[in-house]
Amino acid sequence: GTRTATRGDTETLRSRREDAMGGTVAPLFYDHPLQIVRGEGPWLVAEDGRRYLDAYNNVAVVGHADPTVVQRVGRQLGRLNTHSRYLHPEVVELAERIVATMPPGLDTVLFTTSGTEANELAWRLATEATGGTGALIVQHSYHGTTRWMADLSSNEWPPGHRPDAVGTFRAPVDPGDLGIGSTTDQVRAAARALADGGHRPALLLADSGFTSEGVHDAPATYFQGLLAGAHSEGALYLADEVQIGYGRTGPGLWRFAQSGVVPDLVTLGKPMGAGYPVGAVVTRRDLVDRFAERYDYFSTFAATPAAAAAGNAVLDVLEDRRLPERALVTGAHLLDRLRDLAPTTDVLGDVRGMGLVAGIDVVDRPTARRLLEALVRQGALAGLTGPGGDVLKVRPPLVWDTSHADLFVDCLGRALEDLSGSSTPG
Ligand code: PMP
Repeated sequence: GTRTATRGDTETLRSRREDAMGGTVAPLFYDHPLQIVRGEGPWLVAEDGRRYLDAYNNVAVVGHADPTVVQRVGRQLGRLNTHSRYLHPEVVELAERIVATMPPGLDTVLFTTSGTEANELAWRLATEATGGTGALIVQHSYHGTTRWMADLSSNEWPPGHRPDAVGTFRAPVDPGDLGIGSTTDQVRAAARALADGGHRPALLLADSGFTSEGVHDAPATYFQGLLAGAHSEGALYLADEVQIGYGRTGPGLWRFAQSGVVPDLVTLGKPMGAGYPVGAVVTRRDLVDRFAERYDYFSTFAATPAAAAAGNAVLDVLEDRRLPERALVTGAHLLDRLRDLAPTTDVLGDVRGMGLVAGIDVVDRPTARRLLEALVRQGALAGLTGPGGDVLKVRPPLVWDTSHADLFVDCLGRALEDLSGSSTPG
C-alpha cells in the first residue's frame, strides 16, 4: 500500500529502498544515509529537524527551493507542460539566452534531459561530421551512464575494462607538464593507441573542471593543447560543462571560456534547471546541419515549457544575484582558509580549486571516508572524488557567502579533531 515516510522512519525507509530499489546498485551517501525533507538556500534539513550546511550540491546552484524558480516552474506546470514539438516562447528564449553566454560561433542549442544524453547527442554530431569511430578522454573521467558514456567514463571502469575505441590521456595534474606542446603530444599519443585498434577519433571529451579526476585547475595552455591535439587528429573537442558550468568558476558561466579556447561542442546539465531535468548541447550550426542531412532530433521531455521555465529562472537568479561574481569571492576565501588549515594536520594534503569548488587531498581513502562521516556529524555535507576516492570535494550552491565558507572550514577543523580523538586508543 502507499505509506509515506514519517519522522523517525529513516532506517525503515532505507531497508525498504534496498528491497525495492536494487540494494547496492544505487549507493546512498554516508554511513547513516540522511532523509532530507527540506532545503532552503545553502541549508538542508533532515527528518529529525537537524540542519546541515550543503557543501556539495550543484544541482541547486541558486540555492535550495529558490522562490523565483519555484514560482516560475509552478506557474508553468499549472498552465501547460507537454512534449517539445510545439512552439513556446519560454523554450526559444532559453536557447537564445544560452547562445548569448557563449563565444561567437557556438550559436545553436539542442536540448536534452540529462548530461549523459547531451554527451551522447554530441557524440552523434561528431561522428556524422568526422566519420570517426573512437573517442579520446581524460584518465579517470566521468561523462554519464549509457553503455557508451560508461565506456567514456574511465573513473568507473571495472578492473581490466579497456574499450578499444577509447584512448586516454593524462589529466592536468603535473604542473610541469601543461604546455600546449606537451598536451597536444599526449592527445596525439592517445589517438595513435586508437589507431592500433582500427579507430580514428571523432571526439575528444573533457570535463573542464576535471572534477572526477580530482578537481584540477588547468591553465589555458592545457585547454589549447586539447583543442589543437583533437583537431590535428581529425576529432572535435567537446567541453563538458555539465558539472563545472553555470557560474561556479565565475565571473562568466563557463569554465572553458576562461582559457580563450572555443570548443566545437559544449554540453550542459546538472544545475541548468535547478533539479528540473534539462540538459543541452551547444555547438555550431554547420555541425547540426550536417547531422540534419541524415537524421532529425526529438526527445519527448527535452525542453518542455516547464523545463525551460526552470532554465530561464536559474539564469535570472544567477544574473540578479550576481552569483558567478560572488562565487569568485567566496571561493577565494574558502581556498585561503583551507590552505591555512591543511598544513596543521597530517591528514590533509594539497588543496586545489577554482571559483567555488575545491578538492582537498586526504592521506588515504579510509581516512577520507572517516573524515567525510565526521563532517556530517559536525553538520556539513560534502563528498569524495578522484581516482582513489580520497579527495574531499566541496562544490556548494553558489548562494554561499564567506560566512558559509568559514562555517565549513570550522566544521572541517572539528571533524579532524574528532578523527584524531577517535583514533587514539582508550
Ligand atoms: N558529465 C559530467 C562531467 C558529470 O559530472 C555528469 C554527472 N555527474 C555527467 C556528465 C552526466 O550527467 P547526468 O547524470 O545528468 O546524466
